[in-house]
Amino acid sequence: MLGPVILAASRSDRMRRLISAAPVTKQVVDRFIPGETVDDVVPIVEERTAQGLELTMDVVGEDITTPDEARAARDAYLALVDRLAELELGERVEMSVKLSMFGQALEGGHELALANVRPVVEAAAAIGTTVTLDAEDHTTLDSMFAIHDELRQDFPQTGCVIQAYLFRTEADARRLAANGSRVRLVKGAYKEPAEVAYQQKHEIDKAYVRVLRTLMDGDGYPMIGSHDPRLISIAQELARRAGRKPDEYEFQMLYGIRSDEHLRLAAEGHRMRVYTAYGTDWYGYFMRRLAEKPANLRFFVRSMISKG
Ligand SMILES: Cc1cc2nc3c(=O)[nH]c(=O)nc-3n(C[C@H](O)[C@H](O)[C@H](O)COP(=O)(O)OP(=O)(O)OC[C@H]3O[C@@H](n4cnc5c(N)ncnc54)[C@H](O)[C@@H]3O)c2cc1C
Repeated sequence: MLGPVILAASRSDRMRRLISAAPVTKQVVDRFIPGETVDDVVPIVEERTAQGLELTMDVVGEDITTPDEARAARDAYLALVDRLAELELGERVEMSVKLSMFGQALEGGHELALANVRPVVEAAAAIGTTVTLDAEDHTTLDSMFAIHDELRQDFPQTGCVIQAYLFRTEADARRLAANGSRVRLVKGAYKEPAEVAYQQKHEIDKAYVRVLRTLMDGDGYPMIGSHDPRLISIAQELARRAGRKPDEYEFQMLYGIRSDEHLRLAAEGHRMRVYTAYGTDWYGYFMRRLAEKPANLRFFVRSMISKG
């Protein structure tokens, strides 16, 4: 029950100010968002790649309000690409982007987001890597999929994300599996109404398995974005049945969550990619992590009380 309340709070400016200013917040935030600048996260990128993991980097900051901020987001990703090029890590590290950060919600947002994301996709391709378009709330998805189709004409490796909790996703998965897309499947992290999304965990988990089967049996590259042990073993079984080799799908988990499992799956010979977010505008990303696991919120509140 707490999850939807936290997700509602994540849209409140008052809560944002309160939580961002609390002295204890930083320690809890660091667990999920390990730095504010690219220099802060370079040691993590080097350490994880040396451990046999791959990464996808997310510069946080979805709540932009002007075209200049959207262009600044583009530039932040371009600076990241330059840094990956210097480190010669292009082939191990890709990027995840939220189109809202590239201006999608502003006036003329679809074109603006496409114009801002294209140079990032081009720069990524030039160093041997790619970009995945994250899935945000359901109202943004038609635009996201259209941008994905557009980018794939020149850069077929561009990925996108689909969310098992949405009713539309089974049809999206069929289309993306047939056209050979790289697709990350997640349960879904936003507060969605019952008209468009399953609300119960068991319904979402069942939908996840149905969609995953479609992706595994299709022509694309499935990326299993989940920490759920049951879904991970089902994914292994579905990959085996579909005759997929270890480099024909991958697992993805978030930085700071089930880190031992990242290493265990990599040691078993699976491709494992760690989604690593950094930046200063971490509020929305952080609140979604609190909403996913009530124990995180309890820990956060206890820390506030004991330090306060
Ligand atoms: C790589 C990656 C990319 C993602 N991209 C998107 C996206 O683009 N759009 C989107 O809507 N959602 C995205 N998500 C979030 C996703 O939708 C889920 O909210 C999140 O993954 C939790 O679901 P789960 O599959 O891990 O299963 P759950 O049933 O939520 O969790 C399974 C177990 O994992 C652990 N766990 C899960 N979440 C947490 C947490 N926050 N803190 C501590 N432990 C936790 C717990 O042990 C839990 O019991 C992404 C997730 C991943 C892994």
